[in-house]
Amino acid sequence: MKYALPLFCVAALALATPASAQLKPVTREEIAIGSQQYLPSLQSQGGPFLRDAALQAYVDKVGQRLAKASEFPDLPYAFTVINNGELNAWALPGGKIAINRGLLLVMEDEAQLAAVLAHEISHVTRRHAMRMRKKSQTVGLIGALAGIAIGSKAPQYSDLAMKGAGLAVYGTQANYSRDHELQADSVSMKLMSAAGYDPMAAVEIQQIFLQQSQGRSSGGLQALFASHPPSQARVDANRKRLAQLPAGGERGKPAYAAATATLRADKPAFDALQEAIAAYGKADFATALSRSERAIALQPKEGLAWEMKGQSQYKLGRKSDSLAAFGKAATLSPGFFRPLLLRGLVHQDLGKLTEAESDLLASRKILPTQIAAYQLGEISRQRGRREAAIGYYREAAQGGGEIGEAAKRRLLEL
Ligand SMILES: [Zn+2]
Repeated sequence: MKYALPLFCVAALALATPASAQLKPVTREEIAIGSQQYLPSLQSQGGPFLRDAALQAYVDKVGQRLAKASEFPDLPYAFTVINNGELNAWALPGGKIAINRGLLLVMEDEAQLAAVLAHEISHVTRRHAMRMRKKSQTVGLIGALAGIAIGSKAPQYSDLAMKGAGLAVYGTQANYSRDHELQADSVSMKLMSAAGYDPMAAVEIQQIFLQQSQGRSSGGLQALFASHPPSQARVDANRKRLAQLPAGGERGKPAYAAATATLRADKPAFDALQEAIAAYGKADFATALSRSERAIALQPKEGLAWEMKGQSQYKLGRKSDSLAAFGKAATLSPGFFRPLLLRGLVHQDLGKLTEAESDLLASRKILPTQIAAYQLGEISRQRGRREAAIGYYREAAQGGGEIGEAAKRRLLEL
């Protein structure tokens, strides 16, 4: 309850008055929440895009340059590229920020990247997530600020449990208010200017988002547009603000082209992967398999393509084959929980309990999930380890839903 603030008024006032007048410092609690939720949020959406370390370093460099010029330069900022093809970027309280590789592919230069990162930084410095949290505060989860729950948005993971159950929710999308969006646009354009970037890029990026949201309306709303709805009004508002700022600034087109060269070269592989994911979502597993194999032929080092291949094989009844694909994915994406979890579930399905337990424990070290807790409970129960089973079931029961109910039934039996 420490975050109680006159939400609407503060935001509205800040719009009408000079930036510094209404600033409330970011609290230690906010920084702690952001730090705690960062890794789970990154993991739940595809994990850091580790294959391109130079790209990670580049995005962080642009982010840190903006952060230094921001209203609160001393926050523990971090900027991570996520291995996810959807258009999305988000910020946790206290300065932990992420951008999907998919979004990087629709941008043209560093100034546009700076526009997106500056916008997210402004949500942080103006403490919008904390204000929204106060407003909604539905679930008791502290992470109800950013990040998407596996199963709710991405079709290919909706049945990750492979037994009809979902995964624990580690956070939901922050849906900022219209006022917060306008404020973030306004603050971020000044920030871009202060950091030496051409704020015109903020107008362009809103135009790009507007086009993308219109073009994709049939394919389902992208997460970005749910949390930061684009509109012609925002494009126009940014254009007005632009007139009040010094003209010009850095564009960084060659630097951006160099930093994203590998990503762009891999676009055909990513496109094939997206097709596989879409086919999987429509339960067309044969197409999902052939498209994921196409993605692998184009870029054999992309762990997500191997993971998709394994999931498709499993659905087609090729369970033993899927183990090899998940193993490859786990090797290519070290530090990502999902291939380990998936392989653990298949091992368990095949009755290989020792291997299953080892995989589930490894996945759990990276990201504790409800399904892993439940299945570890099952293994412990089958092996007569009653106390351990109770511990796992208790944890799984806390997550609620179908798995939570199943765990409660097990607890009653024990
Ligand atoms: Zn926003």
